[in-house]
Amino acid sequence: MTNNTTAKLIVTCIGSGDAFHSGGRLHSCFHLDAAGVRLLVDCGSSSPAGLARSGINADQIDVVIVSHLHGDHFGGIPYLLLAGKYLHHRTRPLLCVGPEGLQQRVEQVFDALYPGVLADGLGFAVTYRVLDPAAAVAVQDARIRCLPVIHGGGAQALGIRVEIGGCSVSYSGDTEWTEQLPLLAQGSDLFICECFSYDQPTPGHLDYVTLMREKKRFTTKRLVLTHPGPQLLERAGQLELLEDGARLWI
Ligand SMILES: [Zn+2]
Repeated sequence: MTNNTTAKLIVTCIGSGDAFHSGGRLHSCFHLDAAGVRLLVDCGSSSPAGLARSGINADQIDVVIVSHLHGDHFGGIPYLLLAGKYLHHRTRPLLCVGPEGLQQRVEQVFDALYPGVLADGLGFAVTYRVLDPAAAVAVQDARIRCLPVIHGGGAQALGIRVEIGGCSVSYSGDTEWTEQLPLLAQGSDLFICECFSYDQPTPGHLDYVTLMREKKRFTTKRLVLTHPGPQLLERAGQLELLEDGARLWI
């Protein structure tokens, strides 16, 4: 069994909540640490609080990968940048990877919250790369790929797959059922899948009953759920629901 001494990849669930912080959970954010690279997969508005609670130094994060352009998935980036400038006096460059329009949305939000700070300069480089289903993005030893999923955000919502340290982690992002999900999960070590409701169909989201019906099609070593809304939180299920602060060793 993999434990904290033999693990090639450490995944920390920083936030497992929905947009409403249902159950007191923080917005979506997962920290991956392997092969000397530290990545965030999603960085919702409350993620900086979760990083601090988990004892993770935001200054050390190399890459932020964003699944889609809703605030509970990317709204923490302006706060990472703000802390980088004023708190950490960051020099390490930061790469943000996500759907077309990510840079514009981050800069619009940052400028609305802290006018003039970006224009003054952060003191470290922030670069943006568009994540496209047709091409992987390589960062040091990590390869980041995506598939289109079905959700809003004003841009293409993406399911994410990260290969790093000989391990693979898949993440659904927010989506209703799509045939892309079994492809995304195929052969992965860990599949983090959103599940918003128990049996209530919700446009753009998955429900537990659908996932139970389809789970045999996920050829992943481990399926865990995230993003529960109020209805799911009232029902105990058989599938594993992530908790904020949980660490998984792969
Ligand atoms: Zn969303």
